[in-house]
Amino acid sequence: MSCNAIISELEQEKLLEKLQVFKIKGKDKRGRKILRIIGKFFPARLVSVDVLNKYLEEKVFPKLGKRKFCVLYVHTGVNRSENFPGISALRSIYDAIPANVKENLEAVYFIHSGLQARLFLATFGRFLFSAGLYGKLRYISRVDYLWEHVKRKEVEIPEFVFDHDDDLEYRPMMDYGLESDHARVYARPPTFDSPISTYSMSNGSMFPIFSLPRRRSSLWLKLAFVTIHIVYIAILFLFDGDLVEKTKKEPWYTALYLLLCAVTLIQYFATSIASPGYALNAMRAVNERNAVYRKTSETSSQSASSRNGSFIVTVEGNQIGRSVSGSNATDWSKLVADLYSVSPIRTWTCTYCNVEQPPRTKHCHDCDKCVLQFDHHCVWLGNCIGQGNHCRFWWYLCEETALCLWTGFLYVSYLKAHITWVWWQDVIMILLLIFLAISLIFLLLLMLFHSYLILTNQTTYELVRRRRINYLRGIPERVHPFSKGVCRNVYNFCCLRSSVYNSLDPLPLPEEIEEKSRPYTCLDVVTGRCC
Ligand SMILES: [Zn+2]
Ligand SMILES: [Zn+2]
Repeated sequence: MSCNAIISELEQEKLLEKLQVFKIKGKDKRGRKILRIIGKFFPARLVSVDVLNKYLEEKVFPKLGKRKFCVLYVHTGVNRSENFPGISALRSIYDAIPANVKENLEAVYFIHSGLQARLFLATFGRFLFSAGLYGKLRYISRVDYLWEHVKRKEVEIPEFVFDHDDDLEYRPMMDYGLESDHARVYARPPTFDSPISTYSMSNGSMFPIFSLPRRRSSLWLKLAFVTIHIVYIAILFLFDGDLVEKTKKEPWYTALYLLLCAVTLIQYFATSIASPGYALNAMRAVNERNAVYRKTSETSSQSASSRNGSFIVTVEGNQIGRSVSGSNATDWSKLVADLYSVSPIRTWTCTYCNVEQPPRTKHCHDCDKCVLQFDHHCVWLGNCIGQGNHCRFWWYLCEETALCLWTGFLYVSYLKAHITWVWWQDVIMILLLIFLAISLIFLLLLMLFHSYLILTNQTTYELVRRRRINYLRGIPERVHPFSKGVCRNVYNFCCLRSSVYNSLDPLPLPEEIEEKSRPYTCLDVVTGRCC
């Protein structure tokens, strides 16, 4: 590892400390201290073996004391070029561990080892590390299985480890190395491959055909959606003679109803094709825009006559230029780093899209893209709901609910006037009405739920996975960290979502969280603190 150490030894130590690669906290069910090691956090390129050994000797081993302990090693997302120190380095680290520490180590929980690491250890493990250690290894293929050995509250597991569990549910072949567990890349040049591709046996899904049925089922759902609407309206006009009469007398009434139908259908299709805000597109936009900005500012410094044109670009350029330093990092990296600036959490690069994820972004396995302010993947629409189309989605819910209500009203008035006329017509109408009522309840609840999310600036994903998400962990339940007050939230939701700069929320400052968790007083109610 790291012959190319580019930072001083002191800085390397500080880096290990800051990244919390090694953390001693909690106990397993047999009362042994837990030394948690997150492989993904290990900066193998920047830290030398000597510094690592020194760090372990001075900062980690003394804290373990003379008591029995276990190691919880998280291998999830470890990339050979970034986080893997190399076999010879591992060997020398192992050799440097004092004998008494080795004796006290009773178990190693190895999370997400993958088939390749397992095969490697099965072949060379005994030779490299002594049979004693090899016998203490426990492979944990899903985080859920860890709870057999360790209580949930005892350890902090980063969100990406849980995400990997979800990945495995979608791509079980990943467990066996048949599908890549990293670098399913859109933008990376192919020249990067050489040593890494032998580690992950293929670059990308081996079975692209699997993605086809998903698209097909989405088409079927859309067809079913249109058919259901047509059936409801057609049956109404077929059976209900009064409605036809009424249409002749008051055409505006029926026209309004049909207009609502058309608007709902259009909104449905518009939402299903609207971009939910993909991180990859945002990254390209930011990088391109800033390239333009730099060019513009160069030319504007040469000619004063272009003042008007450059003004707009300058304002936006400044917003992300807060931390611009002359390094190789792209503008997007700087923007994302800025959003994370208050937190010790490092920026996280999606292993599928190879894009640095801003806070609140999540990779969707159905769309196979990272979505900004990911809410959920809607099967009914065949599209993700995120920052870009959440507003549209809410309007669609409103329109569909209104349409359901109106249709229900028309069905009920027909049944009231015509019940016992033709029995089979009544049966059809009653069955359709029951289905309509169920849909209405579901839609109404969904609409209210999303209204609540909008008012508090949350997403479904954040609400459901609150305890798992790194940036939400430790924040009291009733505090909504991204909320800027009801009015501001609604305004931002409706009006500001089109711009990448305005719609990306930075992680809140600790003072802000403290202020928000302050209990409500009478004065707060009067002054409308929540608004
Ligand atoms: Zn992604
Ligand atoms: Zn999706």
